[in-house]
This record gives sequence, C-alpha cells and structure tokens, in this order.
Amino acid sequence: MKKSTLFLFFSILFFMAGCSQQSHKETISGIPDPKTLNETYVSNPDQLLDPETVSDLNAKLSTLDQAGIAHIDVVFVKTIGELVPKEVAHELFNTWKIGSKETNNGLLILIVQDQKRIEFETGYGLEGVLPDIICYRIQQQYMIPYARLNDFNSAVTRGVNAVVSHLTSNPAPNLTDTAGMGSTELTITPPESLQSLTDMDSMYSSKEPGDIYSLILAIIYFIISIITGIALSKKASLRILIILFIFTAPVLSVVQLNLDHPVSWHNIRALLVAYTFLLIYTHIHIFLLSWISASSFKVGTQHEQYLKRRNTFAAMEWLTKVFAFPFLWLFWKKHQATLEALRYENINCEHCGTLMTLTSEDKDDEFLSKGQAKEEEIFSIDYDVWVCKDCELNKILDYSNLKSKARECKFCHFTTSLFSRRETIEQATTSNPGYGYDYFVCANCGKETKKQFIIAKISTSGSSSSSGSSSGSSSSSSGGSSGGGGAGSSW
Ligand SMILES: [Zn+2]
Ligand SMILES: [Zn+2]
Repeated sequence: MKKSTLFLFFSILFFMAGCSQQSHKETISGIPDPKTLNETYVSNPDQLLDPETVSDLNAKLSTLDQAGIAHIDVVFVKTIGELVPKEVAHELFNTWKIGSKETNNGLLILIVQDQKRIEFETGYGLEGVLPDIICYRIQQQYMIPYARLNDFNSAVTRGVNAVVSHLTSNPAPNLTDTAGMGSTELTITPPESLQSLTDMDSMYSSKEPGDIYSLILAIIYFIISIITGIALSKKASLRILIILFIFTAPVLSVVQLNLDHPVSWHNIRALLVAYTFLLIYTHIHIFLLSWISASSFKVGTQHEQYLKRRNTFAAMEWLTKVFAFPFLWLFWKKHQATLEALRYENINCEHCGTLMTLTSEDKDDEFLSKGQAKEEEIFSIDYDVWVCKDCELNKILDYSNLKSKARECKFCHFTTSLFSRRETIEQATTSNPGYGYDYFVCANCGKETKKQFIIAKISTSGSSSSSGSSSGSSSSSSGGSSGGGGAGSSW
C-alpha cells in the first residue's frame, strides 16, 4: 500500500513535470534570438509590430549597444501557452546571454499578447541603474496605457524610449501627445524621482487576475490547517504550533519562490488536482481495505486481533495525516480506540472465566524472564501481564514496538540485538561493487553478530561532456546573465 501510493504519487508528479518541461522547451526554442536575425535587437515572430517600428527600434538599440550602455532585446509574441512570462523572460535572457559578459548590461523586454503581460528582465550589471521599481514605473507609465488600446507600436517605442532616456540620464521622453489618447491620467515624472514609498505601495497593491483565486485558496488552506492541527494533537500548545507551521510554511515558501520564479495559478491548480486525486484515492483505498479485512479482524484472541489490525494499518499512519480530510482522521481515531479496547478491556481467564486484572508496568517484571525484561527496557517489546485472582493463573501478552530497530538475537532469541558499528571492508570502484559488515551486539546475552552489506558500483553516467561551442555570432555583446531582476505588468 505504502509503496503503491508513493509510486502513484511520484508518477503523477513526474508526468506533470514532464509535460510542462516539454512544452516549455518547445516554446522557448520557438522564439528566434534577434542576434541570429541579422544582428538585430527585435524578435517579432508573429509580425505584431510594424516594419517601421522594428527598424526604428533596431537603429536606436544598435546605437545604445555600440556605446556600451546596454544591450536591449525586444521580444513580442502572440502566446507562450500557459507558461509564466517572467520564467520565459528569465530563460530567454540566460539562453541568449543578452548583454556583454564583462558588464552584464543586458535587458530583455518581453511582451506576451494573449496573457496581456509585459516583463523586463535585467542583467546583473543593469540592476543598479535600472532597479525593479523603475522598470515597473516605466511599464505602468509609458507602455500599459498604449497596450490597453492595442497600440503596441507606441507601447514598445515609448517603453524603449523611457528606458533609453533613463539609462542616458536624459529627462523623460516628451509625452505631450498622449493627451489626445483619452488617458490623461498619465503623470509625467522624471525617472529620478520615481523611487518613493508610494511607488512601492502601488507596486504591491496592483490587482492581478490570479489574486482572487489565491485568496480563496489561502482561506481554504487556513481552515484545513486548523482542523488538521486539532486532529493531530491533543495538547493545546502543540496544536497551535502545528497550525502555525502548517499555515506559514507554504506561505513563506511561495513568497520566497515568487521572488525568483513566479508561481502561476496554473502550477497551483496542477498541484491541487494532484492532491485531490491522491486524497480520493487514499480514502477509497483505506476504506476498501478495512471493509475487506473486517471479518478477518474478528478471528482469534483479542491479542491476535490487536496485532492483525495494528499491523495492517501501521504503514498508513502518515497517509491518514497527509490526507486527513474529510474522513481519514476520524478513521484513524476510531482505529486507535478499537486497538485500545482490544488491548486493555475484558480479558477473561481461560481456566475459570473470571475477569483478569492487568499488572502495572513497574510490578510486571517479576513475571517476566530476564530477556523479556531486557526487551521492555530497550522498548523493543512491551509486555502486558494479566493475572487471575481466583486461580492465580497469569497470562503474558507481547506487543512488539514497530518503531524499534532491535533485531532478534541468534543466540538467546530475544529481540535485543542492537546495531553497534559499521565496517567497510572494500570500497566500491567504477568496475566493482564494495562490501562491508554491520555489527550488532545483544543487550541481553552480549554476543555479537554481523551482517554483510553491499556498496553499489560507482556510476559513470553522471559525467557529461560540455558543449558550449557558440554559433560564431559576431554580436558586439553576448554572454550576459540575469539573476531574475526586472519587473512585470499586466494590462
Ligand atoms: Zn482463573
Ligand atoms: Zn542474545
């Protein structure tokens, strides 16, 4: 059960990862690198920009590049499927190695029409002069208003102009002709004065379409984590800790992830679908199993029933916690109550039928052998001693601890053999496996036993040859890399 569930879980994950990887590669390689297009700076595969705009941009960006100020590539595509624009921008930047290797002065402007998204990806060297907040303001002020009117030629041209003028420390481009566009809201601010707290506010309060879904998701998750915390722990203080941890861990990691690789609603949806599927699967599996085994659980003595029931579900404890809702936590509670009853309730004397009494743990040692007492001492087996008051008959029941690492000793046959040390005799090489021995010492009789272990051959498939021969592009600047700097805006 444990194995099959794990297998299923991972196959689904790998399947999903494989799918997205495939379309990812295809999309990225489907966008032409402007450097390969006759040393230009604009990738316009879907002809969304006019030829005049493209040649205009090329002239301007070439001058900027020759001057060593920045290498700016503009990419305008109709669609990238369900991929995240920020991720694609980051990948294109690093695949094309935009900007010079020395100064890392690359900037990629990616516009995705169907997702209504503009992304700036900056090289390390530009992050200082062109911080994220400036990128964001340039998009908001000079590009988004035109994109909303489907005037992409103006959006791109004005965006590039604003970046160029910022980089060359000129005042902002003349925007007087925007008055006639209906978006008179545009405030013309010199780029230098952009950095203020109010800018940060507007950056973080901008509403994205995914926000409402994330909010609903967060509320659902919050409720689930509270109920899980209550189900998992009886102690109030521990419960609060569990709830806090379950609630904050993913929030923090998503926030952290979002900084470098934005998590899209698509990714969250895929995870939710996988989780829901596994949730239903484990519920059905565990309920079917308990239904099928119901009759076999009623065969034998209480002690035998206890062991059979416990061992059947022992490996599933973690599943009932990970997939606690809606019913598995209840199932586990009931399961444990049943076990408790089987172990501690109504044991009758086989001889006279009287109800027997359980001897307390500290007094039961007189009924146990030295080996059994040792097993109790090292927690490998717990013994319950039941005594009949009428005929003084006693009954010793063993409850092995499934979490104990102790093994049965070959000499005295008590479960008191414990690992003591590991000795490697021969190291593995690329041609031969190695081996060694694990030594165990019995806590009861003191005798030592050993068990051989094998070390797998050292794999050689890991070393790969480096490719890295460039296509001989003669671009003046190539070799830049980006650490994920830049900003994005939706229209
Ligand atoms: Zn009796
Ligand atoms: Zn022994």
